[in-house]
Amino acid sequence: MKKIIIVFLIIFIVGCNKTAQENNGKVLSEYEKLLDSVQETAFIDSFTIYGRYFNLTGYLEKDVSNLSLVLKNEDIEEEYELILENTDSKTSFQTTELINQGINLEKITSGNYIIFLKEITDDKISYYTLENATNYTNLDYYTITKDDKNQKIDIAFDKINDKNFLYLKANVEKLPEDIYDIVIDPGHGGIDVGANKNGYFESNINLEYALLLEEKLTDLGLKVKLTRQTDESIDNYGSEGRVSVPYETKAKLMLSIHMNSSLYNVGAGGVEIYVPNHADITFAKNLAEEIVSNTSTNYSANVSNKISSGVYLRTLSMADLEDIKESALEGGYEPYEKATLDSTYYYIIRETGGIVTSAYVDSRNKEKEWNHYYASNHGCEAYLLELGYMNSSSNLDILLTEKDEYVNAIVSSVREYLEI
Ligand SMILES: [Zn+2]
Repeated sequence: MKKIIIVFLIIFIVGCNKTAQENNGKVLSEYEKLLDSVQETAFIDSFTIYGRYFNLTGYLEKDVSNLSLVLKNEDIEEEYELILENTDSKTSFQTTELINQGINLEKITSGNYIIFLKEITDDKISYYTLENATNYTNLDYYTITKDDKNQKIDIAFDKINDKNFLYLKANVEKLPEDIYDIVIDPGHGGIDVGANKNGYFESNINLEYALLLEEKLTDLGLKVKLTRQTDESIDNYGSEGRVSVPYETKAKLMLSIHMNSSLYNVGAGGVEIYVPNHADITFAKNLAEEIVSNTSTNYSANVSNKISSGVYLRTLSMADLEDIKESALEGGYEPYEKATLDSTYYYIIRETGGIVTSAYVDSRNKEKEWNHYYASNHGCEAYLLELGYMNSSSNLDILLTEKDEYVNAIVSSVREYLEI
């Protein structure tokens, strides 16, 4: 009797293992087939997601001139152009120069892909598999909600028969409760009222705009998260902080809503959209244009940091860098070496993009809050919207009476940009 029980147990265990191996083996053999033609190795030294875009950089230990990136599964082969730089028999490659361009994850069809490089020369085609030379292991992304549907995309490195490779898996999946499409940040709040004029506080106007924007974007089927729902002070960093929310929710886009004020620019007023450094500014230009054409406000007359009508890029100045060094000296910590003239000035844009926007507020300054996600390879595309100047009575009047027109203009440009 005992013997029979033992025999049954063994059969059961073997049976289980076999099924698991078969399932795993099926997926692995698909990759194995795809990997068959790949002979040599290229190294990846950065792979990131910013907003909706996946990008990578890497190098080959040889001189090549005609190289492209391939995403391939059994049915589909997508090819992406690479930007190449050749130095001392080494080739560096990257998928984009602008942070909000590259491989648009919204356009990926469901399936299991391997990602590799393809080199075409006069007499042959060579393939290069990708090996991870970073400290990062994987990325996961949820597509923007469309018709109540989302895809989950996993990007990670794996190894079969000593061959390293990068794969991408895209599957329709229910959006987890804590994942969102867009984050709206009503600037200031609580004791920090921001600008004020004639008894109106910027923090309250920002919140009114944010709530209306949330309503209209939600009506389009998008999942929207606000950094604050009421008139309250919120932290910048730490759990549910202004900067943490886009990371925690894996949001694709963040709009920080503000009203401007100036001691000098009293009469003029106007809209100013602040963008991240090294970004394509199509969305910001369109946003400013929609606001100017659908409300009574103008493009701002402010010329400092202006890069296009209504579009502004502010980066750290020499004086800002001196201040950063000075505070480090006073606080007894090492200055942030990642703060350079290339860094975006506004923390809400810079600190929400992780390594892509060179977020630098790490934990070295123990006295202050720090950005727990500063080293993340998955960032959110963020913009700061200064919708008008509160100190100009005529502009304030427009801000108070044309909220609907403003919000409709913002919704329209978001729709166009996110293709929904
Ligand atoms: Zn403000």
